[in-house]
Amino acid sequence: MSVYEEVVTANDAYVASFGSKGELALPPARHFAILTCMDARLDPAKYAGLREGDAHVIRNAGGRASDDAIRSLVISYKLLGTAEWFVIHHSNCGMEFFTDEVMRGLLANSLETAELGADGFFDVGKGPGSTEAKYVDWLTISDNAQSVVEDVTRIRNHPLVPLRIPIYGFIYDVATGRLIEVPEATKAGSAA
Ligand SMILES: [Zn+2]
Repeated sequence: MSVYEEVVTANDAYVASFGSKGELALPPARHFAILTCMDARLDPAKYAGLREGDAHVIRNAGGRASDDAIRSLVISYKLLGTAEWFVIHHSNCGMEFFTDEVMRGLLANSLETAELGADGFFDVGKGPGSTEAKYVDWLTISDNAQSVVEDVTRIRNHPLVPLRIPIYGFIYDVATGRLIEVPEATKAGSAA
């Protein structure tokens, strides 16, 4: 079965057991939001105990507090009533394995998928690539705990974010499934 068929088939099964979820309200019932990485090993519904309708989950590469992530968080509280936020990065994140300079070089060479070796990502594909990557801030990570502190701090200091919303910082351990708090981040994100 192709991935396309797998997804459509899985959805058929989901619809068959959908139950009364069509009656869920639009605002998250548990009034919180999670900003986390898109990494395929992370399942926020499982690691944080969510059911449909419970919470907002905003995901991007790294779980970074990009302008667009903040756009979603502002909508999350202003229109949909969330009152507590979690920023959750994780161990072994792909964003630790390259820099803006590396990404720009890789994409300038080739648009094919690069490979990850002991010395980082390298190109195996053919060109042409594009220099457009130099206009993107890839928001890479050099220190995991520090990136959580930075992102919580950026959200905390954003003029569209009210001080009443506490922001907690965590790192998800991909080896154990455990959420490990980053106390410095949670402190930076404390409500006032
Ligand atoms: Zn990641």
